[in-house]
Amino acid sequence: AMRHLPYFCRGEVVKGFGRGSKELGIPTANFSEQVVKSFPSDLSTGVYCGWACVGNGDVHKMVLSIGWNPFYKNIKKSVETHIIHTFKEDFYGEILSIVIIGYIRPEKNFDSLEALISAIQEDIEEAKTQLDLPEHLKLKEDNFFHLPEGKIANNH
Ligand code: ADP
Ligand code: MG
Repeated sequence: AMRHLPYFCRGEVVKGFGRGSKELGIPTANFSEQVVKSFPSDLSTGVYCGWACVGNGDVHKMVLSIGWNPFYKNIKKSVETHIIHTFKEDFYGEILSIVIIGYIRPEKNFDSLEALISAIQEDIEEAKTQLDLPEHLKLKEDNFFHLPEGKIANNH
């Protein structure tokens, strides 16, 4: 499954399913079902880290979850990106560009909200550390983020 990494992806940010991520202080920008369908089916569910950019904005660290979507009775995946940056405003409808680089952990269920939040805080710390590795840092500068029509080249 990890042979797909790094995985480049671009798509519109759509409304999610109101699981209240923002209320937990960890908003997740959701991709449309169409973008999710285009993902390799054997890219495992779980938590990943990588780089993300909204529109023509700066490139930031991110954590991403690929999970089964309860809204669709767990038969469809959802792909949600939490960008490690504080934005002044929401960016629904904007184009989000990401490169998924490192795998952090499998999908898990949590007994409590506190356990969920602390796991995500750990994911964020792990992402920050992994992304500082030289081979990961260099993808931040990839042309994919800098050229408006940058080609998506996942077939490396
Ligand atoms: P939804 O269920 O609609 O996805 P969320 O509570 O997950 O709602 O909030 C996601 C939205 O918050 C994103 O679509 C985006 O517009 C906004 N947002 C603001 N800051 C961030 C951030 N740092 N990372 C991701 N999304 C963010
Ligand atoms: Mg969300």
